[in-house]
Amino acid sequence: MTLDDASLQKFGYIERGPLNAINIDPLQRGGILTEEGRRALVQWGDGYSICDFCGGQLDMIKKPPINDFVHKALPEFLGTDEVRVTNGARESKFAVMHSMANEGDFVVFDEVAHYSSYVGAQRAKLNVRTVPNSGRPDYRTEPEGYGIVIEEVIKESGKTPALALLTYPDGNYGNLADVRKVASICHEYDVPLLLNGAYAVGRMPMNAKDIGADFIVGSGHKSMAASGPIGVLGVSSEYADIVFRKSPTYKTKEIELLGCTARGATVMTMIASFPEVVRRTRKWDSEVADARWFSEKLKVMGLTQMGDRPHNHDLMFFEAPNLYEISKKVKKGRYFLYREMKARNIHGIKAGLTKYFKLSTYGVGREDLSVVLDAFDEIINKYEKL
Ligand SMILES: *Cc1c(COP(=O)(O)O)cnc(C)c1O
Repeated sequence: MTLDDASLQKFGYIERGPLNAINIDPLQRGGILTEEGRRALVQWGDGYSICDFCGGQLDMIKKPPINDFVHKALPEFLGTDEVRVTNGARESKFAVMHSMANEGDFVVFDEVAHYSSYVGAQRAKLNVRTVPNSGRPDYRTEPEGYGIVIEEVIKESGKTPALALLTYPDGNYGNLADVRKVASICHEYDVPLLLNGAYAVGRMPMNAKDIGADFIVGSGHKSMAASGPIGVLGVSSEYADIVFRKSPTYKTKEIELLGCTARGATVMTMIASFPEVVRRTRKWDSEVADARWFSEKLKVMGLTQMGDRPHNHDLMFFEAPNLYEISKKVKKGRYFLYREMKARNIHGIKAGLTKYFKLSTYGVGREDLSVVLDAFDEIINKYEKL
């Protein structure tokens, strides 16, 4: 197969729509490039483009200013001692699990942890125990649960868990657990805490030191307006020598990073977007206000938001019994919602979902959110009469 102009057009992301549509896909909202990021992508798009300037360690490159970004800007932004860029949030988590735990060790996760946390633990050959959440409708993770599960692991294995992980917020309900309390409970047992901030770092203010987290993980393409795959990994000085230990044979190469990570356009888009990303985290309060406002409006239409209420994050999970009932009656079945939204140039609710779905209000703004609300209203009114 070749990609001629016509097929580039056909498969092209921009032409296909999501960028020109109102996009409420949680996965995509925080990863849309800034203008600066888009320019960097073109300028640095050739393979290994930054390696001309490298003396063996990506994070030490002075021009372009990767060294300043990784060793000054990011540590300050994340509130952590040492930072590296990685190829994604999952690569960051795996590096921590693989270096902090030995085969057969136990790790403790929140129940709704992302699949990549579980797969990372499996790759590192670890045993996972989970802290259950409160179930429907709040799906809340209680900090005390970490103490209970840590004690169970000690009883079962005779050893404290090598690591605890909290997904902050979780990627299903957008819940923000009481992370300071989780950190202090874990530390009572000397268990280090990894914060998976894939949906937080780059959207909302995050400071690992304030929180008491030992490790913090972010995703560039999820929440830092970067073209991925790229992630960040912050580590406290206490554990930096373990996670970032160097190869005995290649003195500049860090083993967990396989010697090098984001070696090209990905890191340059992250750097280019970073000033705007810092600015937008300062406007987090107004993002939360927009999410709450949107949730209230949908409630009036018969859609119920699950998870923390009032909500504290732009990622929200809704139950829509009325849309589900409609999907059972209409000819096109459960795809009707996707089609109706698409006809109104609204992208981001997964095709085929009506009963439960996630969406994000991040950076959409009230004007476009009103268009989405009107769409729901119109669609419900149109079909409920059938
Ligand atoms: C998206 C997501 C990830 C994966 O991020 P990558 O950077 O693509 O590896 C991990 N955890 C959560 C909670 C996510 O939402």
